[in-house]
Amino acid sequence: MLNNKCVAHRGFSGAAPENTLAAIRLAAKMNDIDWIEIDVQLSSDGVPVVIHDFTLQRTTNGSGAVHQHTLQQLKQLDAGSWKSRLFKGEPIPTLDEVLQEAKGRLRLNIELKTNAELYAGLAAAVAHQVKQHGMERDVVFTSFVPQALLEARETAPAIRRGLIIDSRPADLLQRLEDCGCSLLSIGQGRVDTAFVRSMLDRGIDVMVWTVDQIRRMRELGSMHPDLMICTNRPDRWLLASKLPEVRERPLWRRWLRF
Ligand code: MG
Repeated sequence: MLNNKCVAHRGFSGAAPENTLAAIRLAAKMNDIDWIEIDVQLSSDGVPVVIHDFTLQRTTNGSGAVHQHTLQQLKQLDAGSWKSRLFKGEPIPTLDEVLQEAKGRLRLNIELKTNAELYAGLAAAVAHQVKQHGMERDVVFTSFVPQALLEARETAPAIRRGLIIDSRPADLLQRLEDCGCSLLSIGQGRVDTAFVRSMLDRGIDVMVWTVDQIRRMRELGSMHPDLMICTNRPDRWLLASKLPEVRERPLWRRWLRF
């Protein structure tokens, strides 16, 4: 059995358009899911909005850079049709809307989506909204960009921080310490049992991304029960948690044909 916590990546993005309220509501309907991950950027008028790519092409019917559009312009876009006609007209949500939806139900891993030049003030704007909803204890700020984490620490020291990385540099612990991080969000191919244990022993929580195969979820789960698993497919995580082990498949494949 798999007992590890699941983090629904961009909401239940396997079934609904990523980073939309539809994807977040679907994740919220799954009783055993209590964490989601979302990506946040700023509109040109400084409002935190929830979208992954720096440009609009892939997930909306707009084009150009997110940060060159006002909130009003972003709100007119369709961020659902690319996934399915079922989600036609689903808008880009603001962080405020997502916090409202999640409050009292889901905890949020909020990725500060930026690079070295973009979005000075992103962490401050995001922290302000989190505080307005009184959700400081229900969120963790994550980023690939140390500068964004330092800004987060400056403006909201009490909110947890996590470094996102897809490698294991020799100075990893130092990097975590420099940003005051208590979470490491790391590419799933980078971990093994000893590494996960060594991080947890030092008080660093570990989340691996992005794991969509049941077999791999179980392999990672067997490394440590506290390893968090980030997935586009929380439905598969549920199956991995509830169904017998894969090696016992003959017992259940008679009635579940996959
Ligand atoms: Mg992300």
